[in-house]
Amino acid sequence: MKFVYYFGDGQADSAVPQKELLGGKGANLAEMTRLGIPVPPGFTITTEVCTHYMNDDKFPAQLENQVLESLLKIESAMKQKFASTSNPLLVSVRSGARQSMPGMMETVLNVGLTSKTIPGLIKQSDDERFVYDAYRRLITMYSDVVMEKAQNLKPKNGKGIRQELEIILDKYKSNHNYTEDTDLTTEDLKIISELYKTCVEDVLGEIFPDDATAQLWGAITAVFKSWNGKRAETYRRIENIPSEWGTAVNVQTMVFGNMGDTSATGVAFTRNPATGENQFYGEWLANAQGEDVVAGIRTPNPLNQYSRTSESLDLPSLEDINNQIYTVLDKVKTQLEVHYHDMQDLEFTIQKGRLWMLQTRTGKRNGAAAIRIAMDMMDEGLISENEALMRISPKNIDEIMHDTVDPEAEKSALLLATGLPAGPGGATGQIVFTAEDAEKWIQKGKKVILVRNETSPEDIHGMHVASGILTAKGGMTSHAALVARGWGKCCIVGCSALNIDFDNKTLIINDKSLNEGDWVTLNGSLGNIYSGELSLKEPDLEHNQYFKKLMALADRKRKLGIRTNADSPEDAMRARKLGATGIGLCRTEHMFFEPERISAMREMILAHNEASRRKAIMKLLPYQRDDFYGILKAMAPYPVTIRLLDPPLHEFLPHTEEQIENLSHETGINSLEIKSRITTLHESNPMLGHRGCRLGIMYPEITEMQSRAIFEATAKLIKEGEKPFPEVMIPLVGSDTELENQKIIVDQLANDVMQRESITFDYLIGTMIELPRACVTANQIAEYAQFFSFGTNDLTQTTYGFSRDDVGSFMPLYIDSKIINNDPFQSIDELGVGELIKLGVQKGRSTNSKLKIGVCGEHGGDPDSISFFNSIGLDYVSCSPYRVPIARLAAAQATLKSNL
Ligand code: PEP
Ligand code: MG
Repeated sequence: MKFVYYFGDGQADSAVPQKELLGGKGANLAEMTRLGIPVPPGFTITTEVCTHYMNDDKFPAQLENQVLESLLKIESAMKQKFASTSNPLLVSVRSGARQSMPGMMETVLNVGLTSKTIPGLIKQSDDERFVYDAYRRLITMYSDVVMEKAQNLKPKNGKGIRQELEIILDKYKSNHNYTEDTDLTTEDLKIISELYKTCVEDVLGEIFPDDATAQLWGAITAVFKSWNGKRAETYRRIENIPSEWGTAVNVQTMVFGNMGDTSATGVAFTRNPATGENQFYGEWLANAQGEDVVAGIRTPNPLNQYSRTSESLDLPSLEDINNQIYTVLDKVKTQLEVHYHDMQDLEFTIQKGRLWMLQTRTGKRNGAAAIRIAMDMMDEGLISENEALMRISPKNIDEIMHDTVDPEAEKSALLLATGLPAGPGGATGQIVFTAEDAEKWIQKGKKVILVRNETSPEDIHGMHVASGILTAKGGMTSHAALVARGWGKCCIVGCSALNIDFDNKTLIINDKSLNEGDWVTLNGSLGNIYSGELSLKEPDLEHNQYFKKLMALADRKRKLGIRTNADSPEDAMRARKLGATGIGLCRTEHMFFEPERISAMREMILAHNEASRRKAIMKLLPYQRDDFYGILKAMAPYPVTIRLLDPPLHEFLPHTEEQIENLSHETGINSLEIKSRITTLHESNPMLGHRGCRLGIMYPEITEMQSRAIFEATAKLIKEGEKPFPEVMIPLVGSDTELENQKIIVDQLANDVMQRESITFDYLIGTMIELPRACVTANQIAEYAQFFSFGTNDLTQTTYGFSRDDVGSFMPLYIDSKIINNDPFQSIDELGVGELIKLGVQKGRSTNSKLKIGVCGEHGGDPDSISFFNSIGLDYVSCSPYRVPIARLAAAQATLKSNL
């Protein structure tokens, strides 16, 4: 079995891209090599080895030989030898999963440097200082990754070995009055390396290995093990990456960006990852190793004029300093984009004036950039319309609907400082200084901004829960920026005015001091940091040409109609602007939560005879007529499905003594009588109690009043020249007889209003399908219905027998222990609830082939569920206004997938 795949000198063992086996990094290194791009030779150990190692705690027997064979190939390509005393080859050992997990796993560089190979490298490089610098970096990384983390050693006094070594370095520098690492001489680095080795032995109880082969296997093993490290596990959980995938390991010839002034290293994006603009964007550092750029320890230089930020205004760009190399890099950029048909994130190193590409991968981007890039690439002819549509995830749409800081509030706000605008949008919250605190505060229901010097991948869990992220160091390609952008999170990095005192949980920013818990607001699009809690504004999608283009494309491709759930004219207008063409559910009971209405509603519920009920109901009529007038007008000429009252009665009853007294006061009903009615109306299980159509059947005067309000509003609008289209929906029907009962009343009222007003109008009558019995008897129910709307919230509740209000107590455990895969209230349970829906559709249409069928439960805004609804031939889905664009995209993607 083949476990190791070589790449180098224009040749690669894998003839086709194999991400599953070689990981993203390995597959792309092989591909770049095949494209003739300069890549340092190396080999990839497959993800299968990782799985094997995780299961058996040892490597497959053939691995060692295959590694040696590939090492020989590298040696012959590089004309160097691993472990050679005269001409030694050094390698890097890096992880590379199928899906990129930036910084979540481990890397060891400069592997193969020992007391025996050091003299050879000095001869080869003619730079003794460089060699000892590389050596102390190897000791740091190796002891941290291989000797401590992979062995699962817990640092004694809370300080890991990396920190212990940093203390040695800092002490040495301060004893010698050095401020920069570059002040260290060759002699200093020699001494520091020895101090490091002694410290490693003292702290970890083991000697740093002075054998190249031992180092190589130690590093390979540790990188495989890092797949199960805490950071990687957290990231996998957040990103839904299966742990069975495993990582590959890439062993590759070291090239050095720190071999003096003609050497450099950098990171670049083929397009701007924050805005999506088609401009080469990147950062580089002269005389540095790659980690220095990503870790954000030094402010990086701009790649070109376009990449300049306020922090790098005066720093020379690569384009200026070495135009020849920049031109080659620019060509590689175009070649890679044309090859991969997507925006790439590149890592490169220049060793003594020679360019090497170390990595290419699909670049992380925020929602706005993702949409712009897809639309631009479609226009440029790089990808097809369908590819462009499939590129956008529902998450991307969600991100651009994020808030921004209100420009009015911003004008008068106190600007504390400015940093780099790494993740656009606005965020406001209370500052915390550690990822752990961020999580704790969020659990207490607070909103936080996580403030760090530079975020390391260890902070991932805190970054995820924070509203925004602010760092003192780092550039636009630092980890914080990369990760935040991937999540569409507001983020500002590299704010050099920020001075953090972690011990006392305070910070000073341009002379102003702030404590933990103080409010700040971030404008991640400009990089501005403000004091206090500024108001945020909704995004302006109307002027976003790329979003509009995407939505128009989605609308052209989708089959499903998209409606919205809205109970007010404002919501209806908002949804309409976002592309809804109709209301799929107007919950009339939601119209009664306002104080003066709720008391009329309560009076109606509490009435003990028809006369007093009619009296209370008549108070509600004018409100309802106005409501329906507004909503029908806002949506005309599109249909508006108005559901007759479906109040779980308990939600409307007064609970406290005070509420009872108030109600008594307002209605003149004696408080004792109110209490006695409450006792009579008490239900053990209100969700299965006197709700839905049962209410209208028991009290027809309620159905009469609501129908009258709907039709009088309709008549009024028609007289005003509008084209209202009401659809009256009877809730929680379980049998045809229930629907028939209510339909008679609604039709009667429609006729009455038409006659009285001397006009005619169109309307439909239909029902919600929310009970298993309704699905099973849908052929009978359809005798009386012109439309069905699946109320998947209640249908899930009644099919599973899970109370929708009480699942919180056991659902997390069910999901954790894989008893259930997803919360069925979020994503439709296709096997159970889905089968019932299919049955309902098929039976309903067997009676009435024109039956209009939609969904109005929460699932109408869930992309996976939308895909299912599309596959079973529904006419539309209805979701909350803010989900409408996501539903438009998801419906288009569902159509494309079903055509595959
Ligand atoms: C449903 O049950 O799916 C539904 C939309 O109605 P409600 O959520 O109002 O019960
Ligand atoms: Mg319902």
